[in-house]
Amino acid sequence: MTIQQKIEQLREELNQHTYNYYVLDNATISDFDFDIILKELEKLEEAHPEFFDSNSPTQRVGGEITKNFTTVTHQNRMYSLSNSYSKEDLFDWEKRIQKMLGTTDIEYTCELKFDGASINLTYENNQFVKAVTRGDGFQGDDVTANIKTIRSIPLSLKLDFVRDFEIRGEIILPLDGFKRMNKQRLEEGEEEYKNPRNTASGSLKLQDSAEVAKRPLDCLLYQVVTSERKYKTHFESLENARKVGFKVPKTITLANSIEQVFDFVNEWDSKRHELPYETDGVVIKVNNLQQQEELGYTAKSPRWAIAYKYKAAQVATVLREITYQVGRTGAITPVANLEPVQLAGTIVKRASLHNADQIEKLNIRIGDTVYVEKGGEIIPKIIAVNFIKRPDKSEPTIYATHCPECNTELIRTEGDAKHYCPNEFECAPQITGRIQHYISRKAMDIDGLGGETVDLLRKEGLIQNYADLYNLKIEQIIPLERMAEKSAENMIVGIEKSKEIPFEKVLFALGIRFVGETVSKKLAKHFKSIDALMTATFEALINVDEIGDRIAQSIIDFSSDMRNIQLINRLKAAGIQLEVSLENLENQTELLKGEVFVVSGVFYQLTRNELKKTIEDNGGKVSSSISKKTSFIVAGDNMGPSKLTKAQDLGIEIISEQDFLNKISL
Ligand code: AMP
Ligand code: ZN
Repeated sequence: MTIQQKIEQLREELNQHTYNYYVLDNATISDFDFDIILKELEKLEEAHPEFFDSNSPTQRVGGEITKNFTTVTHQNRMYSLSNSYSKEDLFDWEKRIQKMLGTTDIEYTCELKFDGASINLTYENNQFVKAVTRGDGFQGDDVTANIKTIRSIPLSLKLDFVRDFEIRGEIILPLDGFKRMNKQRLEEGEEEYKNPRNTASGSLKLQDSAEVAKRPLDCLLYQVVTSERKYKTHFESLENARKVGFKVPKTITLANSIEQVFDFVNEWDSKRHELPYETDGVVIKVNNLQQQEELGYTAKSPRWAIAYKYKAAQVATVLREITYQVGRTGAITPVANLEPVQLAGTIVKRASLHNADQIEKLNIRIGDTVYVEKGGEIIPKIIAVNFIKRPDKSEPTIYATHCPECNTELIRTEGDAKHYCPNEFECAPQITGRIQHYISRKAMDIDGLGGETVDLLRKEGLIQNYADLYNLKIEQIIPLERMAEKSAENMIVGIEKSKEIPFEKVLFALGIRFVGETVSKKLAKHFKSIDALMTATFEALINVDEIGDRIAQSIIDFSSDMRNIQLINRLKAAGIQLEVSLENLENQTELLKGEVFVVSGVFYQLTRNELKKTIEDNGGKVSSSISKKTSFIVAGDNMGPSKLTKAQDLGIEIISEQDFLNKISL
């Protein structure tokens, strides 16, 4: 077998396992064995870059960064759907199309309306080429790199389908994956995502495709677009799309009349809540493609299709009490405590009231009968009050003036919707929240210490802040409830190990407001130590690339608080990395300062990511698109022809991988 054949064989094998698992939901290999084959393929591909294939299974892990998504004009417009809400609406629609077609002989397909973000996938010669969001229907964003990480989307088709085609579907986030993501968010002290749909569509626009790869996204297909007349019906085209590897839900059903359509609607009205993902209605389409063509489109939507929307589940109940929750940053959220009531398959006891303005807008009082609705959001919301049922002796709601946890007077700054408890250092949920953030995976990554234990340690008076973690003794921990000796040991080891975490992550762990992961990296790189950062002036701060007034002020506030200075001194004494380590500095130079690089093609001595990192470590900037600001293009093999033309037009110097390496080894 030649190397090329071997590579192709491994790719096919991996594709088959991926298909079995992600489309058929039927695992045929363990993760471990899968990884072994993947590693083997990776090695061969690295040694033989001449066989590079952007659709190889090795390309699914992501890593490509997109700063600005390219706008692409759709070859075929992506229309919306007109809506219907009753059987009468559907009969009206039927009458209209019967008249236009001059026949009553119309067959329909009934499909569920998946609640996510629509996507258009383009294939040429059985190969996946690009993925574009719906956008305004005429133009969307090219999100190819991100979409490639979704394992249920085939990148190369084994069986022939139609020649060149587009296939449309919905990117969704299944409910269990959504719950998992939120659990992790909570553990990391972050606010939960609101609903699966927004999270799915937000995921498509993440800049780092490796982050997208970690999200449990899925893609359900519902429309084939092709000029080839191979199939006579919509149903047939989808059945065949499923055969060649696409995830086409089997819920699609044929109907011969609106009565039958309505049977489908009724059947799924309750059954849809048992599906692993969210749906918000049914889509009815004329099945015959010839008839579809005759019917055509209005200015906004196809005449041959209509959506039937399920009403969001609603119920009336009584408001018993309003309580207030305090978040990690001190933000206050009012919560409605309700007379428990059944709604869309679950018992609802609480609903969010968001903030003081919302309470005022609803004009809601204790004892009121309120309407609760469960739409896409996990926490139900109160949509209105039934004023007729308002008890005679009810009192207007007065918003909390003091923190329910520490009794400090709440503050509300202009322009802020929320009230805050300013007692950062002594308010229990803020203490716990800040330590939970400190130990979280992207910060100090302390194994052996979980969110609940942090709260327990605080309650026991063993920790008040993150510096206290480093004074914990194993003898203090073992007597705690549910704490075995082994887990106590693990905790201490985990805390000890956090002393190796590099400065940029420590900076993020400190939880300075507005100083997130990316900002921490920038600041660490620029100031190189906490001392330099904390003594920097406002001007020095805003002079750093991408650091604005808001962040600068927040750092100044943090640095001028004595309590923070003391905390930092204790972290220093404990041996935490509060400056960039020598090791890190050694590989860093300013050789490429002021230069902007675009990297394109396949490389031999470094991987693409190593190349980008090397540029940044040497003070250069990496950009994803060529512009007048580009200083150099590092071109590998198979550089995109459009990039080449653009570079030549703008007169930008194109250098090889070796030229680049020479540049920095001077
Ligand atoms: P709307 O956004 O309300 O105009 O509804 C149109 C959208 O419904 C389309 O853009 C698709 O993203 C989505 N959709 C979900 N399921 C289906 C389906 N089975 N057939 C067609 N469109 C669907
Ligand atoms: Zn408080």
